[in-house]
Amino acid sequence: MSKKKAIILDRDGTLIEDRNYAYKIEDLEILSGVIEGLKYLQSDFVFFIVTNQSGIGRGYYTVEDFEKFNTHLLEILDKNDIKILKTYYCPHLKEDKCDCRKPKTKYINEIINEFNVDIKESWMVGDHPSDIGFGINGECRTVFLTTGHGNKHLDELESLGINPTIISDNFLAAAKEIMTFH
Ligand SMILES: [Mg+2]
Ligand SMILES: [Zn+2]
Repeated sequence: MSKKKAIILDRDGTLIEDRNYAYKIEDLEILSGVIEGLKYLQSDFVFFIVTNQSGIGRGYYTVEDFEKFNTHLLEILDKNDIKILKTYYCPHLKEDKCDCRKPKTKYINEIINEFNVDIKESWMVGDHPSDIGFGINGECRTVFLTTGHGNKHLDELESLGINPTIISDNFLAAAKEIMTFH
């Protein structure tokens, strides 16, 4: 069986509005172009979410709150015939020095091994330098979105020496670039 190509998605600020530690369903808002972009990509790619959720480690919300909120997102996507194969989350704080917080590559390695993914033909999409660092460390291509917190962090990329494959201000536009990338 041939290997799958994946789009690994950050969640907050990439798929949904980043409302700083949101966990209430009424605060969930899907960003413009996301549904259309995912539909566009799904003929060629399978989807995963990898999200840093330090709000759990900080005690702002529980794992159950996170799962309820995330399930709601997955249900909305499912109603649009978009399937996320698995959501990976890091509940830790940066200070915990865990091995699952982006840009550490634990979850990218799990995706490669569990789902037989061709990582060199895959993409990480996110709105934070740590998302791009994660993709680069995991040896896939990357999209930096200036949605969410992206615009605020755009200037940091150069000083951090982080070079995304694509920079875009809209998920659908990024999806089109991915589909035509050679
Ligand atoms: Mg984000
Ligand atoms: Zn972690």
